[in-house]
Amino acid sequence: MAFDSLTEKLQNVFKNLRSKGRLTEADVKEALKEIKRALLAADVNFKVVKEFIKNVQERAIGQDVMNGLNPGQMVIKIVNEELVKLMGSETTEIKLQPGSAITVIMMAGLQGAGKTTTTAKLAGKYKLKGKKPLLVACDVYRPAAIKQLQVNGEKQGVEVFAMGENHKPADIAKAAIEHAKKNGNTPVILDTAGRLHIDEDMMAELQEIKETVEVHQTILVIDAMTGQDAVNVAKDFNDKIGIDGVIVTKLDGDTRGGAALSVKAVTGKPILYAGMGEKLSDLEQFYPDRMASRILGMGDVLTLIEKAESQIDEEKAKEMSKKLKKAQFDFEDYLESMKQMKNMGGLSSIMSMLPGLGGMGMGKMKGLDDEQTAQAEKNMARMEAIIYSMTVEERRNPDVLNPSRKHRIARGAGVDISEVNRMVKQFGEMKKMMKMMGKGGKRGKFRMPF
Ligand code: GDP
Repeated sequence: MAFDSLTEKLQNVFKNLRSKGRLTEADVKEALKEIKRALLAADVNFKVVKEFIKNVQERAIGQDVMNGLNPGQMVIKIVNEELVKLMGSETTEIKLQPGSAITVIMMAGLQGAGKTTTTAKLAGKYKLKGKKPLLVACDVYRPAAIKQLQVNGEKQGVEVFAMGENHKPADIAKAAIEHAKKNGNTPVILDTAGRLHIDEDMMAELQEIKETVEVHQTILVIDAMTGQDAVNVAKDFNDKIGIDGVIVTKLDGDTRGGAALSVKAVTGKPILYAGMGEKLSDLEQFYPDRMASRILGMGDVLTLIEKAESQIDEEKAKEMSKKLKKAQFDFEDYLESMKQMKNMGGLSSIMSMLPGLGGMGMGKMKGLDDEQTAQAEKNMARMEAIIYSMTVEERRNPDVLNPSRKHRIARGAGVDISEVNRMVKQFGEMKKMMKMMGKGGKRGKFRMPF
């Protein structure tokens, strides 16, 4: 599967970040160096990598840490967002003409990229949407290509328009559109001829089709297995004939996947679909965000981060971070943050996001197994019980907690005094850490500790 090795390398980088209690600027730079190496090894375009690393670094260093995340997660969040941006942020659809007007889609690409297969796959998608597509055999150089399109068209239950090898592709396209007008076909998808390499004849032929008929969308098919070559091909096509979007094929194969990451940045044109196999159903809409989380191999963590963003009450979060900065965080605030965590669901994995809890040995970035989850939930319930056994004064000012008060609290909560001691101690350590982080803070938020 494409990206496997990149995913593994990135996960290692994040694992190393995670094992640090605090991150220094040097930690981040080291991590970015590793990320850079991993991207280059995945055959991502060098300039794209450089720009990517620069963007992540600018954001990671000196960035305010979001409430509910630790610095390591913050770096993942930034890398993820930059990956999504790199691939174009939004999902782009092939733009169809309004109403029943005919849309002409011209498919282009080098020989072997998967153009004919993808053309048939695409037609199948339109058919499923209730449209009546027409496939047009404009590759007049390879008789086998016409036959292949006919066979695939038949499999898809889609009509194929062919005039043999003795006509110019532009004329075939023109006749096909006439046919489509009479028969109510749209979109009309032109399967054009590829060559082994970019050559003038091929470009001239595509240009001639564009000059003869109105082509609404020019879609380039590139083969992910050819890595950076595919990206160079895309740039050439875009410069010479102008393309509207790209379909990357063979992302199912053992490719390094760099083409998918670079093509938008290099050409400015979005990836529309990804070919995920030889079967005619193996064409997936391209979602930059889903692809990014697949690359990071951290769907669960990313979902968690999203939840933290959407569910922590803004005002409360601001107030909390002010307190954190001044290290005025008390047990009442702690109860409040536990309540927010519960609102967010998925208690076990969220534990790690609350600063301090990870350090208590209960939270891990990659979620917990069932046993650990049960343990974490038990711990949390005990902590709540301990805090509920405190008086309001004790909650607001833990410094007053002397041994006799602690005994009383332990009895009230039904726990051993050692547990109360441990929690109070850890709470103190957490506050100390917050204080250090807060020192570099600005505008009421605390900064990354590097
Ligand atoms: P064309 O010369 O560009 O028209 O390429 P074809 O459509 O004939 O495809 C070339 C080869 O790539 C064929 O063996 C296809 O089955 C294969 N192929 C196309 N798309 C994919 C894909 O997404 N994944 C895999 N694994 N193979 C593909």
